[in-house]
Amino acid sequence: MDGMSRSAGRIHLLCNGLSAIFLLSMLLSCAGKESPPEVISPPTAQTPTPAPPIEEAPAPTPITPMPFVAVKLLQIADSLIIRPSPGDSLIVRFLYNGAGITNHRTPSSVSASLKGGWIDLHKQGQGPLETGLSRASISPAKEGSYLYLNGKPYRGSLTLLPAQGLDPNTIPVNLVAINFVQIEEYLRGVVPGEIGNLGRDEIEAIKVQAVAARTYALSRLGQFAEWGYDLEATVKDQLYLGVEGEAPLADEAIEATRGVVMTNGGLPINAYYHANCGGKTEYIERIWDKPAQPYLIPVEDGYCDWAPSYRWEETWRPEDLVRNLSAFLDTVVVIPETGLGPLLDLRVASRSPSGRVESLEAVTAAGTYTIGKDRIRWAMKRGNNPNRLLRSTLFDIEVVHGGDGEVEKITAHGFGTGHGVGMCQTGAIGMARQGFSWEEILTRYYPGVEFQRWGD
Ligand SMILES: [Zn+2]
Repeated sequence: MDGMSRSAGRIHLLCNGLSAIFLLSMLLSCAGKESPPEVISPPTAQTPTPAPPIEEAPAPTPITPMPFVAVKLLQIADSLIIRPSPGDSLIVRFLYNGAGITNHRTPSSVSASLKGGWIDLHKQGQGPLETGLSRASISPAKEGSYLYLNGKPYRGSLTLLPAQGLDPNTIPVNLVAINFVQIEEYLRGVVPGEIGNLGRDEIEAIKVQAVAARTYALSRLGQFAEWGYDLEATVKDQLYLGVEGEAPLADEAIEATRGVVMTNGGLPINAYYHANCGGKTEYIERIWDKPAQPYLIPVEDGYCDWAPSYRWEETWRPEDLVRNLSAFLDTVVVIPETGLGPLLDLRVASRSPSGRVESLEAVTAAGTYTIGKDRIRWAMKRGNNPNRLLRSTLFDIEVVHGGDGEVEKITAHGFGTGHGVGMCQTGAIGMARQGFSWEEILTRYYPGVEFQRWGD
């Protein structure tokens, strides 16, 4: 279903006459800021801890440079509405199942819904526009004008697709709205939300964020190709708010670094970043079950201890921690129907070179469970909020036992916020305040990378 979308994007690119400078690894995976949990070892009492799964090295695949990214904005079972800017019209392109394409121009808003797995379009208040479509693309008639998706303005165009599930024999029940947008314009809706509201004296940090976000986006092109888009609009990739997320100083920083990306061996790097490293960043392979990268290695940071996110403390009642651990373990191993029982101990089994907890053992009445790497944040969560991840894995643990041997209270004293891989955003802000340039900041957090400007 998606092949049409991808090839259309590439043809468009070639027509723009841009030169190819990048290779893309199509096998790059996982999230931008918060990687979802993967596997966990079973209780060690019965079974030895298996080695973590080894991810195959990505196979570089040549691509043309892509000045457009496809960002999934919505996936809903309901209907959605697209309206033009005041005084403008919509250009609607219909694609029928296996048949031709036709164009339609309308000054009206258009609503879309799914019926029997096909897209139905209606002009608002005027009845059906077209039905039984496998795909619809909607652009503003005036170049540079916005489209409003459910009232929110976006640059570029929108493509609607039925969401095909994992089983191609089932009828799609969700409608997906994808924003095709030039990458520099995409960044305008990303950078302010990712780095925060900074002042002019911190603009080098905004440039750092622009280059990191641009590089991240390029390294993820094609990651969801079978579903018709490249990036999620959430922190799973990068938070993208469209026109509502834009800010003048960020626009200036994006323009000042226009087209610049970080490369290693000619490839855009995996530009991971996080809020605060707690004093030292980390090897990627010590955080996730991912291959090592020469530029994702521990870096001492002396510029992020000013931030509130640098230091934290978290306390759990044992029943709250057992509830959090159970909810996590239940998704990855079989736990007894009677539950884990009382918590008897919680201990750090091993640490990474930067001091992060790499292996945590939860001793319960039902057995000892070993949780590794960044999954620890997903398993422990927070004492007072099971919906939020533990801030980092860089912590010491303090366990208070009662007279009966059961745990009475758990406290973690920690540093940093986020996974700790790649650029520390608050450290970048600290360095910008000290007068470092964006190039100096990025080469500090991503050692050995080169800068290239696509389109040159
Ligand atoms: Zn830091």
